[in-house]
Amino acid sequence: MKILVLNSGSSSIKYKCCEMPAHRVLASGLCEKIGEPAGRVTHHAGGREEVVEQAFPDHAAALEKVLALLTGAGGVLQRKEEIDGVGHRLVHGGEQFSGSVIVDDAVVDAVRANIPLAPLHNPPNLLGLEVARRLLPGVPQVGVFDTAFHQGMEPRAYLYALPYELYREDRIRRYGFHGTSHAYVSRRAARLLGRRAEDVNVITCHLGNGASMAAVRGGRSVDTSMGFTPLEGLVMGTRPGDFDPAVILYLLKDRAMSADDVNRLLNKQSGLLGLSGRTNDMREIEAGARNGDERAALALEVYCYRVKKYIGAMTAVLGRAHALVFTAGVGENSPTVRSKSLAGLEDMGYALDAAKNAAARGTEADISAAASRARILVIPTDEEIAIAEETYALISG
Ligand code: AMP
Repeated sequence: MKILVLNSGSSSIKYKCCEMPAHRVLASGLCEKIGEPAGRVTHHAGGREEVVEQAFPDHAAALEKVLALLTGAGGVLQRKEEIDGVGHRLVHGGEQFSGSVIVDDAVVDAVRANIPLAPLHNPPNLLGLEVARRLLPGVPQVGVFDTAFHQGMEPRAYLYALPYELYREDRIRRYGFHGTSHAYVSRRAARLLGRRAEDVNVITCHLGNGASMAAVRGGRSVDTSMGFTPLEGLVMGTRPGDFDPAVILYLLKDRAMSADDVNRLLNKQSGLLGLSGRTNDMREIEAGARNGDERAALALEVYCYRVKKYIGAMTAVLGRAHALVFTAGVGENSPTVRSKSLAGLEDMGYALDAAKNAAARGTEADISAAASRARILVIPTDEEIAIAEETYALISG
């Protein structure tokens, strides 16, 4: 069965065409700068890269080009009708979706109703969905939500101690994100331990440009660091994670900033970038810290200290973790962040093997010392493959 996975952003579409259930990637790529004068698709298939420079006035034009690349001369498909299903990454499913769904008009309406909860993400996600339904009529479309994996959290984990009406009337609560990634790597961790997902507790650290952590008990997320939006929790590339919300009042009143200014400050100017004053890229932060840049060193310290605090919190939530997983760009590739985040946690059950940690970059590895109570694992995340799995499972019944 051939599954097309789409991740539609405001000016980009990331795609992967997979043969399922073999998990074989036939083609993948990224269509960028949609709506700008100069657009580009980078297409990978059969070990080759093809770059097409072309303007795409809208998402429909971009997806048409993607379909043409998949089916054209030397393409991986003869006809677009060979696509058996399309899996869409949808960011916010609110409280309605605790799993993936086959998309119909009611699902589209529900995703639209959740736009106020994810104003940056849900509109382009919806656009991709609508365009795919139009260009591939009759092909089942599946929605896979970032929030769904966390919908099983109990009220004590998802409620903020704000007036209850704000939850009842406006649905202000913790939702959590990166759910597809947390679900995928926690399942994979159970498999690496040779146990059923139902029988293990796993802490998953998704450390990418966005970063979040989840406590997964028996295959279900019971708590997570991101909240109402993807701002809460860990330090990220350009987002601060936790801080006292009174700072926002101060910025609005005493610094006379507008709501838009504060929004920009929190989403684009904080985190590693804000602390270092230079970059949101962990590779450059680490290089700066090594070369005596004090602000880069400070950014690295704050980042890893926050990860450590959350590992403690998630361990308390679970009682004990059988495995702790590092994933995403930083988690998969940075021995420095992993060792700084776990330093001093040996008695809590997390002891690294320094040599294994130093060697693990971008591939699955057990980096724990023999004496470690919890297995410490590096597991590359693959959100597209996880979406293809969900799509295949739903449409094959
Ligand atoms: P992601 O959002 O998962 O694609 O992660 C992107 C981030 O991973 C980049 O911004 C980098 O900061 C980080 N990253 C990628 N490679 C490395 C590396 N070798 N060492 C440290 N950080 C890395």
